[in-house]
Amino acid sequence: MDEIIVNLHMHTPYSDGQSTHSEIARAALKAGLDVVIVTDHNVLVNGLEDYYRDGDRRVLLLVGEEVHDQARDPQKNHLLVLGANRELAPLAYDPQILLDGVKKADGIAFIAHPVDPAAPAVGEADISWEAWDVQGYAGLELWNAFSEFKTRLKTRLHAVFYAYNPRRIARGPHPNALRKWDELLSQGRRVVAIGGSDAHARLASLGPLRRTLFPYEFHFRAVNTHIFVPSPLSGDVTEDRRLILDALARGHAFIGYDLPAPTRGFRFTAQGKDCQAWMGDEISCKSGVTLQIRLPRRAECHLLKDGKALKAWHNRETCTHITAEPGVYRVEVYTHYLGRRRGWIYSNPIYVIK
Ligand SMILES: [Zn+2]
Ligand SMILES: [Zn+2]
Repeated sequence: MDEIIVNLHMHTPYSDGQSTHSEIARAALKAGLDVVIVTDHNVLVNGLEDYYRDGDRRVLLLVGEEVHDQARDPQKNHLLVLGANRELAPLAYDPQILLDGVKKADGIAFIAHPVDPAAPAVGEADISWEAWDVQGYAGLELWNAFSEFKTRLKTRLHAVFYAYNPRRIARGPHPNALRKWDELLSQGRRVVAIGGSDAHARLASLGPLRRTLFPYEFHFRAVNTHIFVPSPLSGDVTEDRRLILDALARGHAFIGYDLPAPTRGFRFTAQGKDCQAWMGDEISCKSGVTLQIRLPRRAECHLLKDGKALKAWHNRETCTHITAEPGVYRVEVYTHYLGRRRGWIYSNPIYVIK
């Protein structure tokens, strides 16, 4: 399997972002990404998916869409739609009809910023997901970097502090998003977790202060989704798009906060008698399963089973757990950065079945 670093969920002037697709591709090249996925609000922008190059480096820019019902007040239930072959915004009035439409259009859907509380100090509303009775989504955006910024804005002074100190913002997914994910998994669902930046590079001002909030390149070095594809990207846009969307749909992925230290190289696998499973896969425990975790560097590693702490290792690079118990196993890794313990890696689950 080849590890590919993807930054997804961002906006351009087609909705409320500042940079064009080609500027985004340039920022992604600088940050060393493999893939960026642009998702403007309620518009599927055609004709811009391509490899963008700088010397011998390249980045694949893909285009999806973030769809929500603009007539709804407040404007909750944002859905990230990837790989769909047509415009789906007209179906936004009903989240289930929208999800059915995504399937018909051969797309995949992720619930965007499932927990996104209001920030009254800066006049931002709660835009969490509410329609939890729907079916047919691949997963959810467990960690949304921009929503997390919102949760830090207790006052306007906090807004100024974090606008000038963006490296101090990220600590991990919202605890309620983690709780919701574990709850869905405990119902026997297969729910893929992804991390998104929700990059806009908005211009903000407070009195005489003007500042671009988090340039795209900053986001691209922060919360990324690392995916695993069965063969290296070939350079053919159609073929590579298929590999990437397939890996996302299967949950062959983890969320890495790459700012404290690169998370490339993290692995969580399960070895059975004659089989192996990657994150997102099922494996049978009939003759026992060995769960193996490899960290890119020494850190604090937690193995969870069915949403509950099972085992923790400190200052370790490799961790192993042998089990014959069915369950949903996932990994969280923490590291210290700028004086604080912060979430560093969140794996997708391995589903150990009977
Ligand atoms: Zn949104
Ligand atoms: Zn967005």
